[in-house]
Amino acid sequence: MALPVLRCRVLLVTDVTALTMDVDRRIIRDAAIAIEGRRIVEVGKAAELRARHPAAEVIAAPGMLAIPGLIDAHAHADQSLLRGRTDDLPWVPFLADWIGPYLQRRDPSVAVAAYRLTMLEMLRSGTTCFVSPNVDPRDDLASLTGAIGEMGLRAVLAHWVDSPAGLDPASAAVTRWDGAADGRVHMRFGLDIPRLAGDRYQPSLYSAAGARARELGSGLVYHFCSETEDWTYYEDRFGLRPTQWAEREGILGPTTLLINGCWLTAVEARILATTGTPVVASPTATMKMASGTTPVRDLRDAGVTVALGTDGAANNNSFDMVREMKAACLAQNASRRRAGTLHAEDALEMATIDGARALGLGDELGSLEPGKLADVVLVDLARAGTWPVHDPVSNLVYAAHGGHVDTVIVDGSVLLRAGRPMRVDEAAVLDDAARAAEAVAPLLPRRPERWPQG
Ligand SMILES: [Zn+2]
Repeated sequence: MALPVLRCRVLLVTDVTALTMDVDRRIIRDAAIAIEGRRIVEVGKAAELRARHPAAEVIAAPGMLAIPGLIDAHAHADQSLLRGRTDDLPWVPFLADWIGPYLQRRDPSVAVAAYRLTMLEMLRSGTTCFVSPNVDPRDDLASLTGAIGEMGLRAVLAHWVDSPAGLDPASAAVTRWDGAADGRVHMRFGLDIPRLAGDRYQPSLYSAAGARARELGSGLVYHFCSETEDWTYYEDRFGLRPTQWAEREGILGPTTLLINGCWLTAVEARILATTGTPVVASPTATMKMASGTTPVRDLRDAGVTVALGTDGAANNNSFDMVREMKAACLAQNASRRRAGTLHAEDALEMATIDGARALGLGDELGSLEPGKLADVVLVDLARAGTWPVHDPVSNLVYAAHGGHVDTVIVDGSVLLRAGRPMRVDEAAVLDDAARAAEAVAPLLPRRPERWPQG
């Protein structure tokens, strides 16, 4: 006897304006998205989909935008507790006096509270997938991936390796935790900034990590060419640009994600395009720290995939990817002194489909198309600050912020509805984070208050 075919119930998101981000970048008004299980099964006109799925569970969202879940490709998820502690610092004291001591001296349990706070902010602002570079080997990955599972988001965790001796334990962790949280966790190797430490003291670590990543079907994540010191060293010592050095070490390619790249040149852009190496820009953080500006326009024109990231609460003060899209455009216009250097459409591509491609997940994420995983965000523009809607992409990128996000669906599960987290005790997350922030406060230098507080 044939067994009955078990079918998941269809969830129908209707009456939205869908920014599909498909290959034609179609914008469908009066649209619906049909979701079955973890995947999108249909995208089209609401009337037609409603007729085809009469028994579907319906989320009617008239007047809202539907966009693919935003991808924050540079998000130090353990740094949310440092928000407001490290303003006005350039990178040397920022890393040496605050981030370093925080990472080295904090209790590993603090990371879980920090991650949960970060993910709550992401959930509320439409980020469904994030890359956390430099995941501390002391952190308890069972707890971190458990928290990711509980919150329902996706993550790429780059396990920190800073010595050849760390390669085997990192490999074990990458193998053990890749695919955790029902397949929503992807593991990679996180490397130090290739500069003095990488090249002079451990020249073989980079090529060895690259080889190990390829062997395990994983990838690399590292900060690259963010500051002037990141290129002067290579030019002075080898007469090479950093990208030429990285190519020589075999640590470029589609499974390597380069963070920042503020000082990349046209020669390097061509190498990145040829090797298929993606870059993630974090305009707010690099502007705030006065590091430089990722040449996003030039990289895109050269054929490099450029994703977008916030960097985090320590030097951006926010994980809001909606605001980051605006910052991406403004940074390019200001650095080129030319309006329209980067368009709203470019920024939305960076935050969605190009973010997915940069992570090697372009076939699964980044657009609203049948067959893709159902990561869908609804944005409410029917408010004073985002009305009227002459151009939905313009309003989303230039007028909205993360607080306009109404509904978040990841893997077909509704995680946020009408602005309320569905499966997270928000007060508990905030309380835990406040306690953890208190615990780490004594580990960090005190900065003089500019204004008296009493
Ligand atoms: Zn970073």
